[in-house]
Amino acid sequence: MARIKLQDVHKHYGQGAAAFHALRGVSLEMPSGEFVALLGPSGSGKTTLLRAVAGLETINSGQIQIGDDLVAAPGRHVLPERRNVGVVFQSHALWPHMTVFENVLFPLRESGLNEAQARPRVMEALAQVELQNLAQRTPGELSGGQKQRVALARAMVANPRVVLFDEPLASLDVELRRDMMRHIDQLRRPDSSMMYVTHNQEEALALADRVVVLFDGHIEQIDTPVRLCREPQTERVARFVGSGNLLSGRRVGAARDGLAPVAVGDYSFEARDASLGSQAQVRLCLAPTAMARVEPGLPGLSARVEHVFFQGNAYAVDAVLQGVVAEPLSLVLPLEAQPRRGDVLRLQVRDAWVMPEGRHSA
Ligand code: ADP
Ligand code: MG
Repeated sequence: MARIKLQDVHKHYGQGAAAFHALRGVSLEMPSGEFVALLGPSGSGKTTLLRAVAGLETINSGQIQIGDDLVAAPGRHVLPERRNVGVVFQSHALWPHMTVFENVLFPLRESGLNEAQARPRVMEALAQVELQNLAQRTPGELSGGQKQRVALARAMVANPRVVLFDEPLASLDVELRRDMMRHIDQLRRPDSSMMYVTHNQEEALALADRVVVLFDGHIEQIDTPVRLCREPQTERVARFVGSGNLLSGRRVGAARDGLAPVAVGDYSFEARDASLGSQAQVRLCLAPTAMARVEPGLPGLSARVEHVFFQGNAYAVDAVLQGVVAEPLSLVLPLEAQPRRGDVLRLQVRDAWVMPEGRHSA
């Protein structure tokens, strides 16, 4: 049974000609226990969608179900505290005058438990985020990462059927992020579903069972992280999610076993092709890691290096394809490739994906 079901959800802010459409018909079903990331650029409607599920925002049309309960529909709006959801915001939003213990106790108090009944559950929730020893501190006496872990414990303590996260790592230092990701990953339960909002591709791909890519208030693609990276359905998904390079090419033979012979200029190679298309012209998606530097005399694409960014164990390279159309290429090359600004690289394509036809977006 679907734990969360959104059907054609619309939300606009303001009225008439001045109305801004933040959600334009979003439909999504999440089974119990699933971890879904909502990924999209800033302003794409992620927070609006999350707040609509939490009950912090009303919707204009469509409906939202949590379990068997219809929680939002025209003329119906179940209040947040009656939805049995836990929420973790970007900034932890703890009550500063309460101790850690009291902050985590709060949702249980609201649900009618007294402190003696609630204490073991609070301590268990704190232990899950390794904060049982700091229960008597106030938020002012905690680091940013610790505060965010208190927020996690508070969101989970009442065993909510849905846990919502809105950019929970955004205010943390890079070193703390992996630590928080471990804690969040550990909170997965078969009986609670997670919806995790982020504009960060890495977080979404690392944590989620499925990623929902949102642009301009509508869903562009829903897929597993691997499929999203390997088989983007539109060009903006290819660019946004996998930093994919998009090149114009052509088919030079019949596809077999999901592989099609294609060519860019006079260089031909094989591309994964699920499109069943027959058009001669194709758009090809090449991941930054899908090209290898080879000797100049060998068949390949030629690209001039414009910028080289050392990344510790690899180089990120901005290059420009040398050909009829000077398309930009973003590459990740191993240390031994030794790219230098101004070099003309010979690149062999190791993997490519034929973009599906007819779903070209802006
Ligand atoms: P995201 O979380 O993906 O960055 P939001 O859901 O916060 O996006 O916002 C989506 C769009 O709706 C943005 O263009 C934003 O400016 C607009 N918006 C959000 N909240 C309001 C509001 N209360 N009033 C008017 N416009 C809003
Ligand atoms: Mg947001």
